[in-house]
Amino acid sequence: MIDLRSDTLSKPPAAMLAAMAAAEIGDEQYREDPTTNDLQRRTAELLGHEAALFVPTATMANQIALRAQTTPGATLVAEERTHTVVFEMGGPAIHSGLMVRALRGEAGRLTPEQIEEEPELGRGGIVVLENTHRSSGGRIWPLDEFRAAVDAAHEKGAILHLDGARLFNASVGAGLPPSAWAGLADSVTICFSKGLACPTGAILAGSAEMIERAWESKFLFGGALRQSGVLAAAALYALDHHVDRLADDHAHARRLDPDAETNFATMENRPGLKDELREHGLLVGDLKPGWVRAVTYLGITDDDAEEAASILDEVHAHA
Ligand SMILES: *Cc1c(COP(=O)(O)O)cnc(C)c1O
Repeated sequence: MIDLRSDTLSKPPAAMLAAMAAAEIGDEQYREDPTTNDLQRRTAELLGHEAALFVPTATMANQIALRAQTTPGATLVAEERTHTVVFEMGGPAIHSGLMVRALRGEAGRLTPEQIEEEPELGRGGIVVLENTHRSSGGRIWPLDEFRAAVDAAHEKGAILHLDGARLFNASVGAGLPPSAWAGLADSVTICFSKGLACPTGAILAGSAEMIERAWESKFLFGGALRQSGVLAAAALYALDHHVDRLADDHAHARRLDPDAETNFATMENRPGLKDELREHGLLVGDLKPGWVRAVTYLGITDDDAEEAASILDEVHAHA
Protein backbone atom coordinates (compact mmCIF):
# COMPACT_ATOMS: atom_id res chain seq x y z
CA MET A 1 0.00 0.00 0.00
CA ILE A 2 1.32 3.46 -0.93
CA ASP A 3 0.11 5.83 1.77
CA LEU A 4 -0.14 9.44 0.55
CA ARG A 5 -2.77 10.68 3.02
CA SER A 6 -0.37 13.20 4.59
CA ASP A 7 3.28 14.14 5.00
CA THR A 8 2.75 13.72 8.76
CA LEU A 9 3.23 10.00 8.02
CA SER A 10 6.95 10.61 7.46
CA LYS A 11 9.07 8.77 10.02
CA PRO A 12 12.44 9.69 11.54
CA PRO A 13 15.24 7.82 9.73
CA ALA A 14 17.88 5.92 11.74
CA ALA A 15 20.42 8.78 11.52
CA MET A 16 17.88 11.20 13.02
CA LEU A 17 17.17 8.76 15.86
CA ALA A 18 20.92 8.48 16.46
CA ALA A 19 21.20 12.30 16.65
CA MET A 20 18.32 12.32 19.16
CA ALA A 21 20.01 9.66 21.31
CA ALA A 22 23.28 11.64 21.31
CA ALA A 23 21.68 15.01 22.19
CA GLU A 24 23.06 17.09 25.04
CA ILE A 25 20.09 17.74 27.30
CA GLY A 26 18.96 19.79 30.30
CA ASP A 27 15.76 21.23 31.78
CA GLU A 28 13.95 23.28 29.16
CA GLN A 29 11.70 25.10 31.66
CA TYR A 30 14.86 26.39 33.35
CA ARG A 31 16.01 27.36 29.82
CA GLU A 32 18.95 25.02 30.42
CA ASP A 33 18.47 22.55 27.59
CA PRO A 34 21.45 23.34 25.35
CA THR A 35 20.12 21.62 22.23
CA THR A 36 16.74 23.37 22.47
CA ASN A 37 18.56 26.68 22.99
CA ASP A 38 20.66 25.97 19.86
CA LEU A 39 17.57 25.21 17.82
CA GLN A 40 15.86 28.41 19.02
CA ARG A 41 18.87 30.55 18.10
CA ARG A 42 19.32 28.89 14.74
CA THR A 43 15.67 29.09 13.69
CA ALA A 44 15.30 32.71 14.85
CA GLU A 45 18.15 33.64 12.53
CA LEU A 46 16.85 31.48 9.68
CA LEU A 47 13.44 33.15 9.93
CA GLY A 48 14.73 36.72 10.26
CA HIS A 49 13.58 37.25 13.87
CA GLU A 50 15.18 38.07 17.23
CA ALA A 51 14.01 35.03 19.15
CA ALA A 52 12.22 31.71 18.88
CA LEU A 53 10.44 29.25 21.14
CA PHE A 54 10.32 25.45 20.77
CA VAL A 55 6.85 23.96 21.34
CA PRO A 56 5.39 20.46 20.95
CA THR A 57 3.16 21.21 17.92
CA ALA A 58 2.49 23.83 15.28
CA THR A 59 -1.10 24.04 16.52
CA MET A 60 0.21 25.16 19.91
CA ALA A 61 2.64 27.59 18.26
CA ASN A 62 -0.26 29.21 16.39
CA GLN A 63 -2.44 29.42 19.49
CA ILE A 64 0.40 30.91 21.55
CA ALA A 65 1.04 33.48 18.80
CA LEU A 66 -2.61 34.57 18.96
CA ARG A 67 -2.73 34.72 22.74
CA ALA A 68 0.56 36.63 23.08
CA GLN A 69 -0.29 39.31 20.51
CA THR A 70 -4.04 40.01 20.62
CA THR A 71 -6.70 41.49 22.90
CA PRO A 72 -9.87 39.52 23.84
CA GLY A 73 -12.83 40.68 21.75
CA ALA A 74 -10.63 41.74 18.84
CA THR A 75 -10.90 40.30 15.33
CA LEU A 76 -8.90 37.56 13.62
CA VAL A 77 -9.03 37.70 9.81
CA ALA A 78 -7.97 34.69 7.74
CA GLU A 79 -8.79 32.87 4.54
CA GLU A 80 -11.72 30.53 5.23
CA ARG A 81 -9.81 27.20 4.93
CA THR A 82 -6.86 28.30 7.06
CA HIS A 83 -5.62 25.66 9.54
CA THR A 84 -6.10 27.99 12.51
CA VAL A 85 -9.75 28.51 11.54
CA VAL A 86 -10.70 24.97 10.45
CA PHE A 87 -8.52 22.47 12.36
CA GLU A 88 -7.74 24.04 15.75
CA MET A 89 -11.06 23.30 17.47
CA GLY A 90 -12.17 26.90 17.96
CA GLY A 91 -8.91 27.74 19.71
CA PRO A 92 -8.87 31.42 18.68
CA ALA A 93 -12.22 31.96 20.43
CA ILE A 94 -11.52 29.69 23.41
CA HIS A 95 -7.92 30.62 24.23
CA SER A 96 -7.79 34.24 23.08
CA GLY A 97 -11.42 35.46 22.93
CA LEU A 98 -11.06 36.41 19.26
CA MET A 99 -13.91 37.01 16.80
CA VAL A 100 -13.06 35.06 13.66
CA ARG A 101 -13.73 36.52 10.22
CA ALA A 102 -13.06 33.79 7.64
CA LEU A 103 -12.92 35.16 4.09
CA ARG A 104 -13.02 33.39 0.73
CA GLY A 105 -9.67 33.72 -1.05
CA GLU A 106 -8.14 32.59 -4.33
CA ALA A 107 -5.43 29.89 -3.81
CA GLY A 108 -5.62 30.47 -0.05
CA ARG A 109 -4.62 34.13 -0.39
CA LEU A 110 -6.30 37.27 0.89
CA THR A 111 -5.91 40.44 -1.16
CA PRO A 112 -4.87 43.73 0.47
CA GLU A 113 -8.33 45.09 -0.46
CA GLN A 114 -10.05 42.29 1.48
CA ILE A 115 -7.97 43.15 4.55
CA GLU A 116 -8.49 46.92 4.15
CA GLU A 117 -12.26 46.41 3.89
CA GLU A 118 -12.57 44.57 7.24
CA PRO A 119 -14.31 47.17 9.42
CA GLU A 120 -13.57 45.59 12.82
CA LEU A 121 -9.94 44.72 12.17
CA GLY A 122 -7.63 47.03 14.10
CA ARG A 123 -5.26 47.28 17.02
CA GLY A 124 -5.39 44.16 19.17
CA GLY A 125 -6.50 42.15 16.13
CA ILE A 126 -4.56 39.79 13.91
CA VAL A 127 -4.38 38.54 10.34
CA VAL A 128 -3.25 34.93 9.88
CA LEU A 129 -1.76 33.92 6.52
CA GLU A 130 -0.62 30.39 5.62
CA ASN A 131 2.39 29.50 3.40
CA THR A 132 2.29 26.99 1.86
CA HIS A 133 -1.48 27.04 2.05
CA ARG A 134 -2.66 23.56 2.92
CA SER A 135 -6.27 23.52 1.75
CA SER A 136 -5.54 25.05 -1.65
CA GLY A 137 -3.14 22.15 -2.28
CA GLY A 138 0.19 23.34 -0.87
CA ARG A 139 0.19 26.59 -2.88
CA ILE A 140 3.03 29.11 -2.48
CA TRP A 141 2.35 32.78 -1.78
CA PRO A 142 4.15 34.94 -4.37
CA LEU A 143 6.33 37.22 -2.28
CA ASP A 144 4.98 40.53 -3.65
CA GLU A 145 1.37 39.49 -2.96
CA PHE A 146 2.36 38.37 0.52
CA ARG A 147 4.09 41.69 1.22
CA ALA A 148 1.02 43.63 0.06
CA ALA A 149 -1.23 41.62 2.43
CA VAL A 150 1.20 42.16 5.33
CA ASP A 151 1.31 45.91 4.64
CA ALA A 152 -2.51 46.07 4.55
CA ALA A 153 -2.70 44.35 7.97
CA HIS A 154 -0.12 46.72 9.45
CA GLU A 155 -1.93 49.77 7.96
CA LYS A 156 -4.93 48.69 10.06
CA GLY A 157 -2.78 48.46 13.20
CA ALA A 158 -3.20 44.66 13.27
CA ILE A 159 -0.55 42.00 13.91
CA LEU A 160 0.43 39.64 11.09
CA HIS A 161 1.00 35.97 11.95
CA LEU A 162 2.39 33.59 9.35
CA ASP A 163 1.45 29.94 9.77
CA GLY A 164 4.48 28.56 7.96
CA ALA A 165 3.96 24.95 9.02
CA ARG A 166 5.27 24.08 5.52
CA LEU A 167 7.34 27.24 4.94
CA PHE A 168 10.36 25.16 3.92
CA ASN A 169 8.29 23.65 1.10
CA ALA A 170 7.51 27.19 -0.07
CA SER A 171 11.17 28.14 0.25
CA VAL A 172 12.45 25.18 -1.79
CA GLY A 173 9.58 25.50 -4.29
CA ALA A 174 10.16 29.21 -4.93
CA GLY A 175 13.94 29.22 -4.51
CA LEU A 176 13.78 31.90 -1.80
CA PRO A 177 15.03 31.79 1.81
CA PRO A 178 12.31 31.19 4.43
CA SER A 179 13.08 34.61 5.91
CA ALA A 180 11.82 36.26 2.70
CA TRP A 181 8.23 35.73 3.94
CA ALA A 182 8.85 35.14 7.64
CA GLY A 183 10.86 38.33 8.13
CA LEU A 184 7.84 40.41 7.02
CA ALA A 185 5.51 38.85 9.60
CA ASP A 186 5.34 39.77 13.30
CA SER A 187 5.41 36.08 14.20
CA VAL A 188 5.86 32.81 12.35
CA THR A 189 5.20 29.14 13.05
CA ILE A 190 7.15 26.31 11.46
CA CYS A 191 6.37 22.61 11.90
CA PHE A 192 8.98 19.86 12.06
CA SER A 193 6.65 16.87 11.85
CA LYS A 194 5.45 17.32 8.25
CA GLY A 195 7.94 17.12 5.38
CA LEU A 196 10.89 17.58 7.73
CA ALA A 197 10.12 14.10 9.13
CA CYS A 198 10.59 14.70 12.86
CA PRO A 199 8.38 12.81 15.33
CA THR A 200 6.93 16.09 16.63
CA GLY A 201 7.96 19.68 17.33
CA ALA A 202 7.43 23.23 16.11
CA ILE A 203 8.97 26.68 16.41
CA LEU A 204 7.37 30.06 17.01
CA ALA A 205 9.61 33.02 16.12
CA GLY A 206 9.18 36.77 16.65
CA SER A 207 10.58 39.71 18.57
CA ALA A 208 12.40 39.01 21.85
CA GLU A 209 9.63 40.83 23.71
CA MET A 210 6.87 38.79 22.05
CA ILE A 211 8.69 35.51 22.74
CA GLU A 212 8.90 36.41 26.45
CA ARG A 213 5.10 36.81 26.46
CA ALA A 214 4.82 33.57 24.48
CA TRP A 215 6.58 31.73 27.34
CA GLU A 216 3.60 32.58 29.59
CA SER A 217 1.14 30.97 27.17
CA LYS A 218 3.46 28.02 26.70
CA PHE A 219 3.14 27.34 30.45
CA LEU A 220 -0.60 28.07 30.39
CA PHE A 221 -1.20 25.53 27.60
CA GLY A 222 0.95 22.88 29.27
CA GLY A 223 3.59 23.11 26.56
CA ALA A 224 6.61 23.79 28.76
CA LEU A 225 8.95 20.81 28.46
CA ARG A 226 11.88 19.23 30.29
CA GLN A 227 14.60 17.32 28.34
CA SER A 228 13.27 18.58 25.02
CA GLY A 229 16.78 18.45 23.54
CA VAL A 230 15.91 14.95 22.36
CA LEU A 231 13.27 16.49 20.09
CA ALA A 232 15.26 19.62 19.26
CA ALA A 233 18.11 17.37 18.06
CA ALA A 234 15.71 15.82 15.55
CA ALA A 235 14.77 19.31 14.34
CA LEU A 236 18.42 20.35 13.99
CA TYR A 237 19.12 17.14 12.07
CA ALA A 238 16.16 17.94 9.78
CA LEU A 239 17.46 21.47 9.08
CA ASP A 240 20.78 19.96 7.97
CA HIS A 241 19.48 16.97 6.02
CA HIS A 242 15.78 17.27 5.14
CA VAL A 243 15.31 20.73 3.65
CA ASP A 244 16.96 20.51 0.20
CA ARG A 245 15.50 17.05 -0.35
CA LEU A 246 11.97 18.52 -0.28
CA ALA A 247 12.63 19.12 -4.00
CA ASP A 248 12.31 15.33 -4.47
CA ASP A 249 8.89 15.36 -2.80
CA HIS A 250 7.83 18.20 -5.10
CA ALA A 251 9.01 16.30 -8.19
CA HIS A 252 7.05 13.23 -7.01
CA ALA A 253 3.91 15.33 -6.51
CA ARG A 254 4.31 16.83 -10.01
CA ARG A 255 4.46 13.28 -11.41
CA LEU A 256 0.92 12.84 -10.00
CA ASP A 257 -0.41 16.34 -10.74
CA PRO A 258 1.41 18.61 -13.21
CA ASP A 259 -0.03 21.65 -11.40
CA ALA A 260 1.51 20.70 -8.03
CA GLU A 261 3.54 23.63 -6.66
CA THR A 262 4.99 21.71 -3.71
CA ASN A 263 4.32 18.25 -2.20
CA PHE A 264 0.52 18.09 -2.69
CA ALA A 265 -1.22 16.53 -5.69
CA THR A 266 -4.94 17.34 -5.69
CA MET A 267 -7.87 15.60 -7.36
CA GLU A 268 -11.57 16.22 -7.54
CA ASN A 269 -13.42 13.65 -5.42
CA ARG A 270 -16.32 11.50 -6.59
CA PRO A 271 -18.36 8.84 -4.77
CA GLY A 272 -16.26 5.72 -4.27
CA LEU A 273 -12.98 7.23 -5.49
CA LYS A 274 -11.06 6.70 -2.25
CA ASP A 275 -12.26 3.08 -2.02
CA GLU A 276 -11.27 2.38 -5.65
CA LEU A 277 -7.82 3.83 -5.03
CA ARG A 278 -7.46 1.77 -1.87
CA GLU A 279 -8.35 -1.41 -3.79
CA HIS A 280 -5.55 -0.56 -6.24
CA GLY A 281 -3.08 0.00 -3.36
CA LEU A 282 -3.13 3.78 -2.93
CA LEU A 283 -4.35 5.78 0.08
CA VAL A 284 -5.21 9.46 -0.39
CA GLY A 285 -6.47 12.02 2.15
CA ASP A 286 -9.07 14.76 2.32
CA LEU A 287 -8.07 18.20 1.08
CA LYS A 288 -11.31 20.19 1.41
CA PRO A 289 -14.96 19.43 0.62
CA GLY A 290 -15.10 17.84 -2.84
CA TRP A 291 -11.34 17.34 -3.18
CA VAL A 292 -8.76 14.75 -2.16
CA ARG A 293 -5.00 15.05 -1.85
CA ALA A 294 -1.98 12.81 -2.38
CA VAL A 295 0.91 14.15 -0.31
CA THR A 296 4.52 13.09 -0.88
CA TYR A 297 7.20 12.89 1.79
CA LEU A 298 10.48 11.31 2.90
CA GLY A 299 10.26 7.55 2.29
CA ILE A 300 8.06 7.83 -0.82
CA THR A 301 10.43 6.70 -3.58
CA ASP A 302 10.60 7.35 -7.33
CA ASP A 303 9.06 3.90 -7.84
CA ASP A 304 6.24 4.66 -5.40
CA ALA A 305 5.49 7.89 -7.29
CA GLU A 306 5.47 6.03 -10.63
CA GLU A 307 3.16 3.35 -9.26
CA ALA A 308 0.85 5.93 -7.66
CA ALA A 309 0.69 7.79 -10.99
CA SER A 310 -0.35 4.64 -12.87
CA ILE A 311 -2.98 3.83 -10.23
CA LEU A 312 -4.44 7.34 -10.62
CA ASP A 313 -4.51 6.81 -14.41
CA GLU A 314 -6.22 3.43 -14.05
CA VAL A 315 -9.04 4.81 -11.92
CA HIS A 316 -9.21 8.05 -13.97
CA ALA A 317 -8.59 10.33 -11.02
CA HIS A 318 -7.43 13.66 -12.38
CA ALA A 319 -6.80 17.16 -11.17
C1 LIG B 1 -0.25 20.48 10.21
C2 LIG B 1 -0.46 21.95 10.25
C3 LIG B 1 -0.46 22.61 11.48
C4 LIG B 1 -0.39 21.88 12.79
O1 LIG B 1 0.74 21.12 12.96
P1 LIG B 1 0.89 20.16 14.24
O2 LIG B 1 2.33 20.20 14.55
O3 LIG B 1 0.40 18.82 13.76
O4 LIG B 1 0.02 20.72 15.32
C5 LIG B 1 -0.61 23.98 11.46
N1 LIG B 1 -0.75 24.65 10.30
C6 LIG B 1 -0.75 24.05 9.11
C7 LIG B 1 -0.89 24.86 7.86
C8 LIG B 1 -0.61 22.66 9.04
O5 LIG B 1 -0.65 22.05 7.85
